[in-house]
Amino acid sequence: MICNICGKASSIIFRRRILGKYDVDYFQCSSCGFIQTEKPTWLEESYRSPMNIEDTGILKRNILAAKRTSAILFFLFDTKGCFLDYGGGYGLFVRIMRDYGFNFYWNDPFTENLFARGFEYDPVHTNKVELITSLECFEHFTDPLQEIEKMLSISSSILFSTETFSSGTPDPDNWKYYYFSHGQHISLFSLSSLRYIAQKYNMHFYSNGKSFHLLTRRSLNNSVFNILLKLSLLGIPSLATLLMKSNTKPDSAAAGQIKSIRDENVQ
Ligand SMILES: [Zn+2]
Repeated sequence: MICNICGKASSIIFRRRILGKYDVDYFQCSSCGFIQTEKPTWLEESYRSPMNIEDTGILKRNILAAKRTSAILFFLFDTKGCFLDYGGGYGLFVRIMRDYGFNFYWNDPFTENLFARGFEYDPVHTNKVELITSLECFEHFTDPLQEIEKMLSISSSILFSTETFSSGTPDPDNWKYYYFSHGQHISLFSLSSLRYIAQKYNMHFYSNGKSFHLLTRRSLNNSVFNILLKLSLLGIPSLATLLMKSNTKPDSAAAGQIKSIRDENVQ
């Protein structure tokens, strides 16, 4: 098999049963370390319910990601810009970021927007996107480079989360992130594979070495990136909310106006 990231040879590393019934081969690239499954023919079944039942960490993860993201955006990007959450799921993260005062939009072709209705990304009417966030999406991509190219056509900075590994092959009996039970994690990134992507698209790669990463054309300092992530847990988001204007009330007022126009049209 050919590696979906660097195009070099990828060989079988193990076979595991997913969804309790399909025996699936996992391949790893000898050059960049990227791990991919055989052609995923089970995804429709995997996504029958978009929210996977084992995902009890959805709220905790969104709040943590919002704290980290607000620290990075507040100090390193234009806080007045527009932002897009690519693969934004139910819209929870977009709603939190809007509450913090960032002008965030939502996009996700596979999930219903429940929390950020009215803030769907529209390429024609949304202003230039300062940065894209993509949380826990990369490991779901069948063709990661195609998705990254789509994102790069919208913005030159991508802040994203996916669990990575630094060397070797994570032990299939111990690394939970394979999630054999639902079979949705079909692309697993080594840090080298992310560095390869950065090089391919002339970008810089910053990372906490584990799960939170930034691909951007801007030249920053990896230590600053990591310090901000650490400080994000110590009150920077509160600082951001103090200094920025939350969208919670204005969004509600705008939604109320739209609702009354709709009601008038119905009468
Ligand atoms: Zn590779």
